[in-house]
Amino acid sequence: MGKVYLVGAGPGAPDLLTLRAARLLERADIVFHDALVHADTLKLATQARLVDVGKRNGKVSTEQRFTNRALVEAAKTHAVVVRLKGGDPMLFGRAHEELEALREAGIEAEVVPGITAALAASASLGLSLTRRGLSRHVAFVTPRTGADQSPTEWLGAASSADTVALYMAATQSQAVAADLIAAGRPATTPAIFVENVSLPNERRVVTTLQALRNGPTPSFEGPAILLVGEVFRELSLSVMEHEAEIRLAVTERCQAKSA
Ligand code: SAH
Repeated sequence: MGKVYLVGAGPGAPDLLTLRAARLLERADIVFHDALVHADTLKLATQARLVDVGKRNGKVSTEQRFTNRALVEAAKTHAVVVRLKGGDPMLFGRAHEELEALREAGIEAEVVPGITAALAASASLGLSLTRRGLSRHVAFVTPRTGADQSPTEWLGAASSADTVALYMAATQSQAVAADLIAAGRPATTPAIFVENVSLPNERRVVTTLQALRNGPTPSFEGPAILLVGEVFRELSLSVMEHEAEIRLAVTERCQAKSA
């Protein structure tokens, strides 16, 4: 019987991988990876067969069952099985289902943590999620619900934590902002999207809950995390200053023309 490692691939940039993860990839016989894992990360697995088990077409539960079974089967014929997941494997990554399936089959498993999207975004923005005086708690939240959950279950934590990191929230961000305001968060609270965190095509959209609620909803091609809280205010201020500068520049140009 082989051993299965649930390994965090980090947020995107291949060098944001732990040494433990890199060494396991080098030793791996087979790697089951998410769709978004960077090609250079997969290149570390020089001896392994690569299997893409990224979720597609919304067929989540069927595919999850398939992945669980595939891990169990692989451990019967391979010594080192790596299940490589984006960010940290234990955060919104269906890790529990996979660990449970392995446990039931009597297969040894080990988890290797990774850098989650929210913390990579905090690093990239240069803003602490727990800035002293402004934030004493951070909530990792997803508004995405499973079949047996009430749609507003996420709101309790998201409305009371000082800083909120919302995963899988981009497509429903207008409703999320409306719910947060209705639950009592000030409409002026800064809200920042960071898309493709840590990658060369990283993009930010700086807004407020109010602006988000009123639409339009920004659209993203890559994965995007939504960060909400007062710790991001200096970012929204600097953007406003930036806009004021642009307005000033435009006014000056107009005046210069008319003179
Ligand atoms: N286990 C992952 C999260 C999986 S859920 C982690 O710890 O990061 C998938 C969600 O994570 C996406 O919808 C997005 O909100 C966020 N995410 C993952 N990678 C990201 C990236 N590179 N940039 C921005 N958000 C990302």
